[in-house]
Amino acid sequence: MHARAADDHRDAAIHAVAADRYDRAGDRYTLTAYELLSGHGGSHAAFDPEGGTALGAPLCSLALASVCYRLAGTPDRARARAQSGLALATEHRDHVLTAREERAACAEFAGDFHHLLGDRERATGAYDRAGEGYEAADLGNPAGFTARGLLEPGTRFLVHLSRPDDLTWDEIHGSDPERALSTRLRFKSARLASLLAARFDAGVLMTPRGSTEYGTDRFDCPACGSSDVNYVAGAVFCLRCDTPVRDGPRQG
Ligand SMILES: [Zn+2]
Repeated sequence: MHARAADDHRDAAIHAVAADRYDRAGDRYTLTAYELLSGHGGSHAAFDPEGGTALGAPLCSLALASVCYRLAGTPDRARARAQSGLALATEHRDHVLTAREERAACAEFAGDFHHLLGDRERATGAYDRAGEGYEAADLGNPAGFTARGLLEPGTRFLVHLSRPDDLTWDEIHGSDPERALSTRLRFKSARLASLLAARFDAGVLMTPRGSTEYGTDRFDCPACGSSDVNYVAGAVFCLRCDTPVRDGPRQG
């Protein structure tokens, strides 16, 4: 039941994004984060020292909330969400988590929130600190760490921002798995500010990519005529322009 609460808020956020109701999307992404931080996502709650891997999803929900409030024309709320994400990431880095790689990942998130606050210099400093932490952790499988619960939501955040271009994992992490984490940090240093600026300039965030189907003969987008579709949040959206092409099956 509790897992549903977080999922329901996330699905509602995605539907609000599709409808360009960014105020509502910001609220729902915020509530997703609060549910997850309370341990209502079927995982660890915040402040659980064993819960490092669970922190990524709520931090990314706060980052998405910040993006949505900015698009809604409420920059003060956008800053508030970024500041609360920054505070959480910093607190977990300094007081909750003990594994070097998890503390480094918190520093990386701090960099992302600094970007959301428009401070590239502090973002670069946070990414440098993260890079030192990853190096000191001496992970046997750096590429594998990017697929775990702490960093994987951060990858999805980048891919979401890049839609409809849809960055790939390789574009973010490079082709050398040993250098995946340092390449990821360099990518963020170089590109996150412009990915955010592109969203804010366009005034649009698209729905995240779920499972997709190309050239389907079952759906035609009423807005642009595309038959490429994105299945996400229990519904079907045009992969090209995000128009709902059909309500999904009701989740009971
Ligand atoms: Zn369309």
